[in-house]
Amino acid sequence: MKGTMRAAVFEEIRKISIKDVPIPVINDDEVLIKIKYTGICGTDWSIYTGKYSADKLPFIAGHEFSGTIAEIGTNAIGMKVGDNVTADINNSCGHCFYCKHGLNLLCPEFKQLGIHMDGTFAEFVKVSWKLVHHIPDSMDLLKAAFVEPASCVIHSAKALDITVGSSIAILGSGLGSLHGAAAKARGAAPIIVIGRNKRRLDIAKKMGADIIISLEDYPDPVARVKELTEGRGADYVVESVGTAKTYEQALAMLRPGGTLAAFGITGEEDIMQIKPVELVLTEKKITSSCAGFGEDWTDAITLLSNNRINPEPMFSKIMPLDKLEEALILLQENRDLIKIFISPEEGMEVQDL
Ligand SMILES: [Zn+2]
Ligand SMILES: [Zn+2]
Repeated sequence: MKGTMRAAVFEEIRKISIKDVPIPVINDDEVLIKIKYTGICGTDWSIYTGKYSADKLPFIAGHEFSGTIAEIGTNAIGMKVGDNVTADINNSCGHCFYCKHGLNLLCPEFKQLGIHMDGTFAEFVKVSWKLVHHIPDSMDLLKAAFVEPASCVIHSAKALDITVGSSIAILGSGLGSLHGAAAKARGAAPIIVIGRNKRRLDIAKKMGADIIISLEDYPDPVARVKELTEGRGADYVVESVGTAKTYEQALAMLRPGGTLAAFGITGEEDIMQIKPVELVLTEKKITSSCAGFGEDWTDAITLLSNNRINPEPMFSKIMPLDKLEEALILLQENRDLIKIFISPEEGMEVQDL
């Protein structure tokens, strides 16, 4: 497709320009997708403020997206113009040691759409046809733009491998609510979500948490989790905040023999304190996950489209593309808001969800 499109170009640190750029030209192995929605993620804030991918600027960020197929490369099979889709954002080489072992997220050539290459805060994006996922009719395109974060949480839940009737404590009430919903789908009980913001904790409850711990009421969440679990600590703990302090708390509120999921992203220089002897004597285990890949995406679509996980309580607003910078700042200033979706459609107004 020839011509230009509107795009939000992250020009330099804290500077986004909405401008006309060429529509991406696809090769035989790619498809062009007309973007409907892109959810704003914490990573976009990190790119905007220069904490992440500063060496890639200028480029178009945006990676949690949905849309319809606009053009198809000759090698693409099983898709047609107009299909509702999203796409796995994780590009890997396919032939290194890690890719050959199905560990594509660890590929040395690993590149994510909208993080290491042009993404979806634009009218169109091109992706490899093999990374495209169809969205069933039962699922709207807002939820479809939430498949990426859901796939990350599902990847983490699989690594944690929660068993039916196990207790779980989740630190963080942003994506923490989604970890709660995933734990519920796996039969965990009770599901305990810990956070600071009352509105976010209400959302966690709506999405399946049995017990919430407000840090205003309980400044020591480790003591509170132990109180709720007969003094032992939770069978499973998810760290979904991303500070050294909350990682230390997460390990402390885990019962001996339990498993911790490392999920929250800390600063690169942050260091947590662990007494190795305690790890040895308590047989605590740690799993970790950095994204969702491959079947995590199909599993996310299945769980969302069958309403096993309903993320709608986390959806806050839709805003037009030219208000992206405003939306990024709004999310920092108003912690009641969780997910704002950006739409590049002409004439789109701000909508509260
Ligand atoms: Zn994201
Ligand atoms: Zn590879």
